[in-house]
Amino acid sequence: MTTEATKRNEDLDVYPKGGEIRNLTGRVALVTGSTSGIGLGIARKLAEQGARVVLNGFGPADAIAREQNAIFEAFGVPAAYSAADMSKPEAIAGMIAEIVDREGRLDIVVNNAGVQHVAPINAFPPEKWDLILAINLTAAFHTIRLSLPSMYANGFGRIVNIASAHGLVASPFKSAYVAAKHGLLGLTKTVALEGAEKNVTCNAICPGYVFTPLVEAQIDDQARAHNISREAVIRDVLLAQQPNKRFATVEEIGELTAFLCGPNAASITGAALPVDGGWTAH
Ligand code: NAD
Repeated sequence: MTTEATKRNEDLDVYPKGGEIRNLTGRVALVTGSTSGIGLGIARKLAEQGARVVLNGFGPADAIAREQNAIFEAFGVPAAYSAADMSKPEAIAGMIAEIVDREGRLDIVVNNAGVQHVAPINAFPPEKWDLILAINLTAAFHTIRLSLPSMYANGFGRIVNIASAHGLVASPFKSAYVAAKHGLLGLTKTVALEGAEKNVTCNAICPGYVFTPLVEAQIDDQARAHNISREAVIRDVLLAQQPNKRFATVEEIGELTAFLCGPNAASITGAALPVDGGWTAH
């Protein structure tokens, strides 16, 4: 979908704001699940480096249009939007075809859309298992297989899979999420090997707790439920596993993603990079 801002400025990305050279000028980037949280932070950092971005995810139309316009205003590049439901392979195929049709290329894919459900495995609803596997793992298989032809044809591609510390270690009650994120790391390595000689890299970022609006809401809820301070919730409940006792930020995840998509990361592929304050060093 194109907004007024994107229509007016279709060609602006080749003449970046202020005339400065940015690492991703001329690149076209899809970030799944980017209407909020980490995905939006990543999309903004890619746009800051000059990429034309495609947002995806759910949310109120006016809020999404505001984010599209905010990206254009701040970074001078268009931000398109696709409402494709990442649990539906045919919707993913439609979205990728539309991007390649409109832009003539797809250089960067960030698989970020993700959902969670917490329950002991003997009580884990099978339909939640299926949904989590579909969005957190199978969707990445589809975006990758469908975008590789454009990347191989151009001799350039950057794929970044947003996994989790739970791609490297487990926690109880998160069976589907842990299985999907571990699977995503396996997919990452395979795609890296297949694309290695074609200048297509594939890496995974494994965040611990990241500060998002969702986490912010949890802090107040938990503080009320346990009758403890916000500081105690952060330190002793949410960040119990995270040695540095600090949330990562969406900007930090965005910066790392933009680096992995840039020219200086050409030799980094097949990696799983923890951004977890030491959690998985335990
Ligand atoms: P979030 O809930 O703020 O954002 C999730 C995004 O995915 C939203 O844009 C939502 O609309 C979209 N989405 C959900 N279902 C979708 C579907 N079926 N189709 C298309 N879009 C869909 O979550 P977040 O915290 O920003 O998490 C983003 C990613 O980072 C997830 O893969 C998550 O597992 C991972 N992660 C998050 C944390 C954290 O602490 N927040 C830690 C480690 C990993």
